[in-house]
Amino acid sequence: MAGPLRVDHAVTSGTFSLDGETFDVDNNVWVLGDDDECVVIDAPHSVEDILAVVGERRVKAIVCTHAHDDHVRVAPALREAVVAPILLHPDDKPLWELTHTDHLWDLDLADGSEIPVAGTVLTAIHTPGHAPGAVCLYAPDLGCVFTGDTLFQGGPGATGRSFSDRPTLEASIRARLFDLPEDTVVHTGHGDDTTIGAEAAALGR
Ligand SMILES: [Zn+2]
Repeated sequence: MAGPLRVDHAVTSGTFSLDGETFDVDNNVWVLGDDDECVVIDAPHSVEDILAVVGERRVKAIVCTHAHDDHVRVAPALREAVVAPILLHPDDKPLWELTHTDHLWDLDLADGSEIPVAGTVLTAIHTPGHAPGAVCLYAPDLGCVFTGDTLFQGGPGATGRSFSDRPTLEASIRARLFDLPEDTVVHTGHGDDTTIGAEAAALGR
């Protein structure tokens, strides 16, 4: 028995560096699947912390919401450990190369890319702004979307650093995320969950 489709979660701590500054950050790790197989969404800080969520399951893919170092730092090491491809939108190549000069990801994500797992499908939505290759991952069967740093509880992600742009980010959120059902649960890259309806009401459509 594969058991029910579910989302598992951990918080792992480390640092984020860009533009010559380094900050302490807690990142969410999301694992979507059943008892047999799963996909891992983002690979921050610690392979051990991620494997504790995965357990004995087969990992079908390591999906990166974007290539800031606090989301991809252990992606190559996790790939070694679980033998699964790393998926990333190629527009984040400049950011990826700031962290990984001797490894590439395996498969390009595009808007509309479908990632099958455990009898369901995750669909990539390209939402540039926080990063040029930022994607959100929509799981309609679970009524949730994984937004990385594109949308948090309380509003859009940060756009103060290189490769970010606030108008682009707001346009992505309004055009692509606020179209989802209001009660869609938003699983973010940092911090607590929210819903599409709550964030649409706060930011304005
Ligand atoms: Zn980020």
